[in-house]
Amino acid sequence: MQQENMGVRLLLFPLPLQGHAIPMFHLANLLQKKGFLITIVQTRYNSPDPNNFPLFTFHFLEDGLPANATPAPNDYSTVLSVLNTNCLTPFYNCLSQILCKAAKDQEPIACLIADPMWSFAGSVSSRLKLPRITLRSTSMSAYFVYHSLPSLRDKGYYPLQETKFDELVPELPPLKVKDLPPEAGQDLLADTVKETNTSQGIIWNTFEELEDAYITRVRQVLSIPIFPIGPIHKYSQQSPVNIWAQDQTSISWLNKQAPHSVLYVSFGSIAAVSKADFIEIARGLANSKQAFLWVVRHGLIEGSNENNPLPLPNGYLDMIGQRGHIVNWAPQQEVLAHPAVGGFWTHCGWNSIMESISEGVPMLCLPCFADQTMNMRHVCDNWKIGLQLEKGLKSEEIERAVKKLLVEEEGAALRNRIKALKEKATLSLKEGGSSYKSLEDLTNYLLSL
Ligand code: UDP
Repeated sequence: MQQENMGVRLLLFPLPLQGHAIPMFHLANLLQKKGFLITIVQTRYNSPDPNNFPLFTFHFLEDGLPANATPAPNDYSTVLSVLNTNCLTPFYNCLSQILCKAAKDQEPIACLIADPMWSFAGSVSSRLKLPRITLRSTSMSAYFVYHSLPSLRDKGYYPLQETKFDELVPELPPLKVKDLPPEAGQDLLADTVKETNTSQGIIWNTFEELEDAYITRVRQVLSIPIFPIGPIHKYSQQSPVNIWAQDQTSISWLNKQAPHSVLYVSFGSIAAVSKADFIEIARGLANSKQAFLWVVRHGLIEGSNENNPLPLPNGYLDMIGQRGHIVNWAPQQEVLAHPAVGGFWTHCGWNSIMESISEGVPMLCLPCFADQTMNMRHVCDNWKIGLQLEKGLKSEEIERAVKKLLVEEEGAALRNRIKALKEKATLSLKEGGSSYKSLEDLTNYLLSL
């Protein structure tokens, strides 16, 4: 894919949270292979090791947070707000210096590609007259909901009424009223929509065949070009950013398991569960008698810290023996691509869903917050490639759902559907496919700025 070095530089500004940084670094790798020169403007907080990216130039912002506070605190909105306050001036100064030097060296800089959760990237780039593109790490449908919040309020959906929770929202199929974003946090959503809509183009980790209806609707409401180029991680062999060390015993353990026999359990980088729920999950997994690989990262259990032992039932590890394997952080892309994996119990973060679709692994859904409930609705009711835990987090319910997913007919039907979607995802990336074409359009657009 490497093209003649065009000598055109792109500045990328990732948000230092795993679910945002991972797709941004995938994009950086991809655009570097397309011949662009890449500069990353990065916080010290949650920074990947720049030595792992010898082809990129890094500039660091002093963000006022401890650099090695590895797991993002569960209250991620506080972290975001601190970062958005502390990084404004350092970012402005950093960009000014980069632009000054580029002008002196006569090196063209096409644009800034920023995460829309940086609330100041738009104002800084327009002050410095630098074009700006956004990379959205949510689905197209979730963005459309955020974009539609003012009109949903006008139509009387807010305040959300519990008596209407199970009603469908006809404007946003297949969502139900209870899936809509809660009132709290809508200011932040409005900021990200504004940052997105005022940019000169939007890159999306999705593909036409998956979200065609919402892609059409977004094209109708926005007058800027959009580039659905996903699944973005499939352009790289493995996750490009290892902010947290990946436990490779995940793979050696999987190598010993039968095909499609393992449930991979991971709730992403931010979601947390109560201690009581954690215990129910542990019991449900053990009682299902199915093999499982479970990511229990620091911060997963509310109120616990790294030094606390896991609150597993007495004798748990002896009871599960070789049938279960628990790790801090897994090489998720490789895990999902492993033939032993037959199901993925996920919190429905968008990257996780794209990664699961790309490998044809059906899902069990436990959405926790943000866009995850909406994502779950599409997985279960639209694409029909996953199951929802309908009666809450009780060990008996978990046991039933795990068996359904891994060994019963219902799971097999989900697997067939997600395998068909996997084929579409694969085709979209091949020459002539929708994401392939979108990437070509993006490359040409970046060169035209
Ligand atoms: N991930 C990983 N190892 C793990 C768990 C997650 O590499 O043990 C990666 C996963 O592949 C995905 C990202 O972390 O790319 C999580 O993003 P997602 O949007 O699914 O959820 P978030 O963490 O943003 O809630």
